[in-house]
Amino acid sequence: MTPSHPLETRNEFIARHVGPREAELGAMLETLGYASLEALTDAVVPPGIRLEKPLPLDEGLGEAEALAELHAIATRNRVLTSCIGQGYYGTHTPAPILRNLLENPAWYTAYTPYQPEISQGRLEALLNFQTLVSDLTGLPVANASLLDEATAAAEAMTFCRRLSKNRASNRFFASRRCHPQTLDLLRTRAAPLGIEVVVDDELALNDPSTFFGALLQYPASHGDIHDYREWIERLHAANALVAVATDLLALTLLTPPGEFGADVAIGSAQRFGVPLGFGGPHAAFFATREAFKRDIPGRLVGVSVDRHGQPALRLAMQTREQHIRREKATSNICTAQVLLANMASMYAVYHGPQGLKVIARRVHRLTAILAAGLRELGHTVEQQHFFDSLSLASGNDTAVLLDRAREEEINLREIDDQHLGIALDETSTPALVQRLWAVFAHDGQRLPDFAALADTPDALPAGLLRHTPFLEHPVFNRYHSETELMRYLRRLADKDLALDRAMIPLGSCTMKLNAASEMLPITWREFTGLHPFAPAEQSEGYRQLTAELEALLCTVSGYDAVSLQPNAGSQGEYAGLLAIRAYHESRGEPQRDLCLIPASAHGTNPATASMAGMQVLVVACDASGNVDIDDLRAKAEAHHQRLAALMITYPSTHGVFETGIREICEIVHQHGGQVYIDGANLNAMVGLCAPGRFGGDVSHFNLHKTFCIPHGGGGPGVGPIGVKAHLAPFLPGHRCLERRDGAVSAAPYGSASILPISWMYLKMMGGEGLTRASQVAILNANYIARRLAPHYPVLYTGSHGLVAHECILDLRPLKDSSGISVDDVAKRLIDFGFHAPTMSFPVPGTLMIEPTESESKAELDRFCEAMIRIREEIAAVERGDLDAEDNPLKNAPHTAAELAGDWPHPYERRQAVYPVAQLAEHKYWPPVARVDNVYGDRNLVCSCPPVEAYQ
Ligand SMILES: *Cc1c(COP(=O)(O)O)cnc(C)c1O
Repeated sequence: MTPSHPLETRNEFIARHVGPREAELGAMLETLGYASLEALTDAVVPPGIRLEKPLPLDEGLGEAEALAELHAIATRNRVLTSCIGQGYYGTHTPAPILRNLLENPAWYTAYTPYQPEISQGRLEALLNFQTLVSDLTGLPVANASLLDEATAAAEAMTFCRRLSKNRASNRFFASRRCHPQTLDLLRTRAAPLGIEVVVDDELALNDPSTFFGALLQYPASHGDIHDYREWIERLHAANALVAVATDLLALTLLTPPGEFGADVAIGSAQRFGVPLGFGGPHAAFFATREAFKRDIPGRLVGVSVDRHGQPALRLAMQTREQHIRREKATSNICTAQVLLANMASMYAVYHGPQGLKVIARRVHRLTAILAAGLRELGHTVEQQHFFDSLSLASGNDTAVLLDRAREEEINLREIDDQHLGIALDETSTPALVQRLWAVFAHDGQRLPDFAALADTPDALPAGLLRHTPFLEHPVFNRYHSETELMRYLRRLADKDLALDRAMIPLGSCTMKLNAASEMLPITWREFTGLHPFAPAEQSEGYRQLTAELEALLCTVSGYDAVSLQPNAGSQGEYAGLLAIRAYHESRGEPQRDLCLIPASAHGTNPATASMAGMQVLVVACDASGNVDIDDLRAKAEAHHQRLAALMITYPSTHGVFETGIREICEIVHQHGGQVYIDGANLNAMVGLCAPGRFGGDVSHFNLHKTFCIPHGGGGPGVGPIGVKAHLAPFLPGHRCLERRDGAVSAAPYGSASILPISWMYLKMMGGEGLTRASQVAILNANYIARRLAPHYPVLYTGSHGLVAHECILDLRPLKDSSGISVDDVAKRLIDFGFHAPTMSFPVPGTLMIEPTESESKAELDRFCEAMIRIREEIAAVERGDLDAEDNPLKNAPHTAAELAGDWPHPYERRQAVYPVAQLAEHKYWPPVARVDNVYGDRNLVCSCPPVEAYQ
C-alpha cells in the first residue's frame, strides 16, 4: 500500500482502522505458526464456504475523498422548516451537549453498562433520564430508553396483556387519535400474537369490557387535548389497563398521565435536544406504576451500594432479561438508545425545570397566536384546546396550500386530502408564524397583526393544567451555566472506561474503532434537519445513501435485498422472522410455527421467536461446542410439518467456524424450514464468506458492531436485514414506502441519521480493506488465544486448533482450585485499566474475548500481560500465598478512597492498584468498589434520590 509515485493518492484509512502495523503482523503470524494472513485465513475458514473471488467493490476512498463524495450526496437533501409534527419536532441541541457528549468518544464509544464499576458516569446520566421521564409523566418507574415511540407503544400493548386481569381477552383498543405510524406498528406486532387491535374513537366507546388494554394519545396526534379521567376509570372497572402516548414538553404544562390514572406512559424524548435526523435515532421512554416495575421492558438503572456501603448505580433486575429468561423474557430489547437518552437528560439538566417551562410556554404562546391569526383569516382550526399542534379543515385547497407552504420553505402535515396539520416547536419564531399566515391568506387578504394578537389567551384546558412540580432534584438545578455543564459532563465521562481509554474485549459485541471521519457527517445539517415524513423529493440524498448502503450490504453478505428499517439487532431478528412467517403463509403453510434454536444462542433469539408467535425448540450442542447435527436432524424430521425456521449464529457464539454449516442449512431446507443466520458475528466473515452464499435465507447485521456505528453506552444501533430474493416481498413495509404494511419501526429508514457512519466505513475500506479487517480480526483473536492458552484453557477451537474472531477462556477449573470466579477476574481487570470481556455467555464460568482488528499489537500485549499477571495471582491463592478470601482478586476493583483509608488487607497497597509498572504512567481509578447487585434488586430505587436525601 506504499505509493510508488509521490503524486499517487494512497488510501491511508485502512491502516488507520486496522491496529497492528505491517511489520507486527509477521511477528504475530509467527507466534501462530503461519507464513501469511492468507495462510491463516485458509486454515480458519472452512474451504466449503470460502468466497472464491474478492468482493466486487471499488477500491477504498481516502478520508477526504469519501467525505467529499458523501457531502455531494447530502446536498441532494433539501431541508425545509418542518411543521409536520406527528411525533418529530425541531429542537436546538445545546452546543455544549453536541460537543462534549454527542461528539465526544468518551460518551459515544462506551459499551452497555454491564460492568457498573466502570460505568458510573453514564449510569448517572441514565438515572437522570429515568427521573426526568418519571417526574414529567407522573409515574414512579421509568426505564433507560426504548427504540422509538411506536415500538414503545407496542411494548406497552404486550405489557398490558401480561398484566391485565382481563385474561380471556385478546382485544386491544387504540385511539384513532394516535400517531398513524404508531397504529401501524401495533398492527404489525399484534398479528403474530393473535391480538386484535381495535382502532376507534375513544370518546364514543360504549362497552370497554372486551379489552385487556388501551392506548390513548395525549395531546392527540392532531393536537387536541382531552380529559381522560372518567374514561380511564371505566376501563379500570372493566379490568383493562391503559397506556398513554404523550409528549414530555407538553407535560411541563399539562397534568401528567400518572395523575389521571394511566398505568403506562410512553413517548419519544426526541425534542429534548436530539435532531430530527430523518426519523432517528431517538430515545423512546416507558414509565409505569410501582406495582408493575418488575415487568418493565428494556433496561432499568437502579441505585445500590458497593462493597464499602457507598451508593453505586447499576442495571437492575438483569435476571428478567432475555439472556436469562429466553423465550419468556419481558421483551427482546437489547441495544436501546442510551446516547440519545443521555442527550435528552442533559438537555433537561441544562435547562432545568424553569427553562423547560419557558420553552414550552413559548411554543404554546406562538401556537395560540398562530391559531388566532388563522381564524382571523377565515380558517377553521379544529382544536379548542391544544399545546403545539393544530389541524385545519382545508378542503379542496389542501394541495394548493401544501404547495404554497413548500414555496415558503415550510412543510405542513398532510393529514388527508381535506385536512392539514401544523406543529410548532422550540425553533419556531414569530417570523415563522407570520410566514404561515402568508401561506394561508387568500389573495389580497390582509395579514393578521402579530402584536395585536400577542395577548391571545392560552388554549390549554383549565382542568388539565399541571400543578405538581418536577425536576426538583439538585442535578436539574445546578448545571445551568455552560461552564458548570461542561464540567459535569467531563466529570461523568471521567468515571467511565470507553474505547478512548482502553480496548473493550467484549465477545459477541465487536467494539472496534468508530473513526472520527465516519462520525463527522452525522451532525451535518443536511442529515440532521429532515423530518422522516418530509416529501420524498426533499430526501433524495438520503435515498441515494440508503440505496448505496443497501447495495454494499448485499455485496458483502451475499443477499439479494436489504431493509435498513430495523433500529437494533433484536428488531432485525423480528423483521426476519416475520418475513419467514409471511413467506410460509404465502405458500399455504401457515402451520409452520416452530423455531429451532441452538442452546448456545444469544438471548434475543428465543425472545424474538416468541414475539413472532413461534414456538422455540432448543437444539443441543456437542462437546466441542458445535450444533449437534444428529439432534438437529431428528428434530427437523420429527416436526417437518411445523418447522418454520432455524436461528443460528455464524461463526458460532462459541467463536468457531463450524464446518457443518452447509449441511445444517440443507437439513432445515429439506424439511421446509428457512434459515435465519444471526449476523452479529459478521465481523469474522466480510470478504471471506457470506451468509447469503452458504445457506442463509435471512440475516440481520448489527451496524453498531461490524460496521462501526458506536455503541453509545448501550445504543443507538441499526439492525438491517438481508434476504434472499424469495423473501424480498416480505421485507418490512411502511406507510412512506412502496410496501405499506408490516412496519417494524416508526420511521421508514429507522435510525437513518447514523447510516452515514457505515457508508463511510464501507466506502473507505473498499473490498480489499474490508477483507483485511476480517483477516486481522481473526489474527488478533488467535494471537490472544495462543498467548493466553498456557495460562487459561481455550474452551472451543475449530479445525487446526484455531478460533474465529473471538475466543472463550474456561475459568471453571480455576474456580474449583482457587475459589476465584469469572467475576473476580473481570473486576480485577479494572485495576489494570481494562473493561472486562463478556462474562458467562454463552457458557457460564467463562470469559469471551473479541479484540477486533482495530487493536494494535501493543494493546493486545498489554491485555495479555494483565491476564497473565492475574493468573499468577490466582496461582498464589491456589498455593496459599494469598489469602483465599482477602486477596486482590476478591476485593477488586480497588478505589482511591480505599487506598487512602486504613489498609486492613494482607497484601500491599501497591499490589492492589499498581500491579504492573506501566500503570504508574496512566491509571484509571474506578469511582466505586464492587457493586452489590442483590442489595439493589431487593431495594429497588430507580430515580434520583429525593431532595431530602441531600439535606
Ligand atoms: C448483539 C447481538 C444480538 C442483539 O443485537 P442488538 O443490536 O443488541 O439488539 C443478537 N445476537 C447476537 C449473537 C449478538 O451478539
